[in-house]
Amino acid sequence: MATVKTRSTAKSSNGRHESTPVPKVKQTKLLIGGKWVPARSGKTFATYNPATEEKIADVAEADAADVDLAVKAARKAFDDGPWRRMDARDRGRLLNRLADLVEANLEELAALETLDNGKPIRDSRAADLPLAVDCLRYYAGWADKIHGDTIPVRGNYFCYTRREPLGVAGQIIPWNFPLLMVAWKWGPALAAGCTIVMKPAEQTPLSCLRIAELAMEAGFPDGVINVVPGYGPTAGAALVKHPGVDKIAFTGSTETAQHIMRDAAATLKRTTFELGGKSPNIVFADASQDAAIQGSEFGLFFNQGQCCCAGSRLYVEQSIHDDFVDRLVKRAKGRKLGNPFEASTTQGPQVDQDQFDKIMHYIDSGKTAGASLLTGGKRHGKQGYFVQPTVFTDVQDDMAIAREEIFGPVLCVMPFRSIDEVIQRANDTNYGLAAAVWTRDVSKAHRIAESVRAGTVWVNCYDVFDAAAPFGGFKQSGIGRELGEVALANYTELKTVTVNLNS
Ligand code: ADP
Repeated sequence: MATVKTRSTAKSSNGRHESTPVPKVKQTKLLIGGKWVPARSGKTFATYNPATEEKIADVAEADAADVDLAVKAARKAFDDGPWRRMDARDRGRLLNRLADLVEANLEELAALETLDNGKPIRDSRAADLPLAVDCLRYYAGWADKIHGDTIPVRGNYFCYTRREPLGVAGQIIPWNFPLLMVAWKWGPALAAGCTIVMKPAEQTPLSCLRIAELAMEAGFPDGVINVVPGYGPTAGAALVKHPGVDKIAFTGSTETAQHIMRDAAATLKRTTFELGGKSPNIVFADASQDAAIQGSEFGLFFNQGQCCCAGSRLYVEQSIHDDFVDRLVKRAKGRKLGNPFEASTTQGPQVDQDQFDKIMHYIDSGKTAGASLLTGGKRHGKQGYFVQPTVFTDVQDDMAIAREEIFGPVLCVMPFRSIDEVIQRANDTNYGLAAAVWTRDVSKAHRIAESVRAGTVWVNCYDVFDAAAPFGGFKQSGIGRELGEVALANYTELKTVTVNLNS
């Protein structure tokens, strides 16, 4: 995600590539009211290693009954517990303590993330974990800086506002950055003084359960953080519909967000959404070619293409198009697919069979529609959900591969001739999460930054994330923003107090 340097452990002292040992799974139960419990139904579901297709563990499967208990625990911790009465600075200290514990257990958590999600260990170590720690620390710093204003109203009144915690936050997260999404969600919610019921994705519950253990070790009061792994239509929907939940924060697909919006309407819950994308990545002929090629590869293939902001529509200025594509294809072919625990692996498997099938379906649709497949397009190896890095050219703007989110290592490269043309084409989408532009011309860079309707625009870089920089979508890519100071507003209610000074 962010351009964090990978650790220099790719080779051991004898020059051989290191392989990180597979970690032990320590927690598979639900966390409700400070206790680790099985599901009321006794049911479990299996989580699989996407690199081997083997079962890793059986995890307690929450459904509506468990979600109800978790919401009641969160409600109690919010309404009666010590959490809201705690000094804001002490909430910040707890968040910092959690960040320290995550950092102290970084190797274990990185390995767990790689085991459950399939992402290369070098990425878990260099991106997911450090960014998660940074995010928790960033919001720890905000805990005692959330305050209202005094307002000069007419008459002899003293008017002020308070920013109060919103209450119980239901948080539903996807599988592509499991632990980082925990940090993005918990950080602002806990800093603001909310309590949490989190439902991790059914594909990747393990790192969320482990960080919840660390949160208990850090000393968060019982019921402040509850975790209910399970499926979307059961556990997820129960959380969205529960009248005891004040807010739903969701990251996932646009279709699921539409369900959630409908389900949340009955109780008029506050909702924020961080959804899909089909982000344009625009390369002008005057750009540094090396940087643009490297950035275009990273912008799409990072995390196996499973990024909501993946630069999946690459627009390259006509005059450099063919040469640029040649060099990009060489880089795509040079990606190292394989065991994600090997330090030298740069691309792991897709997360599961469903995602694998969906990507293969899009590759077939691109071929059928007449796009040229320059490299990839097939399964890699015999075991695990590996997809070869795939590059299409001769892509028309109305093809499904150019319009729909593939969420895999499939890049569409399209030439353009003028800045007006590329702006129009970049905006011809229902999405609006991110965009990038590569150029040495500062006017062009700003023109693109201003004209592209997307929540984030990267100039001469891609996937540069920071806990302080807001992130979220225009159009059908989301509602609201995560990260930065603005995310605190997602977890607070504004109260106006007016005091009669005549009495
Ligand atoms: P993907 O298709 O990439 O798996 P989803 O949007 O389906 O993305 O999933 C993201 C999260 O939303 C997961 O935790 C999933 O379990 C949850 N989810 C799926 N369907 C629903 C639903 N109807 N209500 C609430 N949560 C859901």
